[in-house]
Amino acid sequence: MASISVNASESKDLLRMERVGAHSHIRGLGLDDALEPRGTSQGMVGQLKARKAAGVILRMIEAGKIAGRAVLIAGPPSTGKTAIAMGMAQGLGSDVPFTSLAASEIFSLEMSKTEALTQAFRRSIGVRIKEESEIIEGEVVEIQIDRSLTGGSKTGKLTLKTTDMETIYDLGNKMIDALNKEKVMAGDVIAIDKASGRITKLGRSFARARDYDAMGSDTKFVQCPEGELQKRKEVVHTVSLHEIDVINSRTQGFLALFSGDTGEIKSEVRDQINAKVAEWREEGKADIVPGVLFIDEVHMLDIECFSFLNRALEDEMSPVVVMASNRGVTKIRGTKYKSPHGIPVDLLDRMLIISTTPYQEDEIKQILTIRCQEEDVEMTEDAKGLLTKIGLETSLRYSIHLITAAHLVAKKRKATAVDAADIKRVYALLLDEKRSVQYLKDYQDQYMF
Ligand code: ATP
Repeated sequence: MASISVNASESKDLLRMERVGAHSHIRGLGLDDALEPRGTSQGMVGQLKARKAAGVILRMIEAGKIAGRAVLIAGPPSTGKTAIAMGMAQGLGSDVPFTSLAASEIFSLEMSKTEALTQAFRRSIGVRIKEESEIIEGEVVEIQIDRSLTGGSKTGKLTLKTTDMETIYDLGNKMIDALNKEKVMAGDVIAIDKASGRITKLGRSFARARDYDAMGSDTKFVQCPEGELQKRKEVVHTVSLHEIDVINSRTQGFLALFSGDTGEIKSEVRDQINAKVAEWREEGKADIVPGVLFIDEVHMLDIECFSFLNRALEDEMSPVVVMASNRGVTKIRGTKYKSPHGIPVDLLDRMLIISTTPYQEDEIKQILTIRCQEEDVEMTEDAKGLLTKIGLETSLRYSIHLITAAHLVAKKRKATAVDAADIKRVYALLLDEKRSVQYLKDYQDQYMF
């Protein structure tokens, strides 16, 4: 007997939604199947070695071979450390949690540093819960026909819009009848007339189904799976451990998930949740999906946070922690000792380190071109050349920011494309870091001490 499993839900990682803006052009690491980086692909330009290394780490994550370790992406400012972490996130499955946090965010008056880190860890661990439940009328579902139970190895898949559960069973069974009579083969697209149950073969694509739809017929279209259908359905949700904590925390309630105002969560609540999840795992009702926690500006963490991390990474349910730093040898916060990237050496010792390097002129130009496309900005070649020079002299990030500003200036003069004069104008208006420092030096006596 095969089973129907219905997937009606997607991961609810709230932080995913925030990933727009600066890195919205990044759609992956741009690697081929052999993990070789393609020059420019999925919005990624250059930084080939780092991208390949990130790809290898992704494979390790997928194979579950990275427990207890962390990843450090180290390199000068604006060399794509965050972009690479984002690219890694895109390479993970859609229900694998990816959360990101700037190290400075954990310092708040509302909760202790370790509580903030614990919440970040638990936000990055997914619990895939399988349950049997009714489909609500009108819901759009994806049905998978699992053949493994029939002894076959393939999993057939069909997608249809359902109006009710009856329809699913009905169509499923009619489809199977047809399969048994060998009128249609696996992979064929068939139309089923709902009233008469008559089956018409439409070939192997949904192209003809569109004609039927256009006629407004009361017909359902399905792609035939292999195997037999059984009246069993399973709903899979992925939620994070943190979400389960919040929902079960008596003082908070689930509305706190939307306001983000979760406060501290009692350790007893977490112990109970851990025990419950362990029980579900044993009963085959749930799987743990370790995700990725990205911590930017990691030198902002202090020694207490580092020792927390050292211990938390050992935990069986730890996510993969990816950190980024643009600092060289600097003081470990909360101590008087210096260390590379401000990270204690015992933690550094258990890290896989990816390093990023400054970009060449042509790479900067290519990234700027991609950003122009992303922001829907037309720019003359002269302007792009000038902006590239500015990027080389100052920083990539500064030159990316100028795109938006120059676009506004161009729009104001009703031009369709940004030209070199627009770039010059915003360059004069908005200082980069070097000129700002120079300005401070020149007018030092007018500032407060
Ligand atoms: P910092 O150390 O200052 O935090 P960073 O190394 O994290 O910098 P990013 O924020 O990733 O740098 O890069 C700056 C901008 O350039 C971002 O908009 C990023 O998406 C883009 N960018 C950087 N590297 C690449 C790349 N290789 N391909 C495409 N876009 C990139």
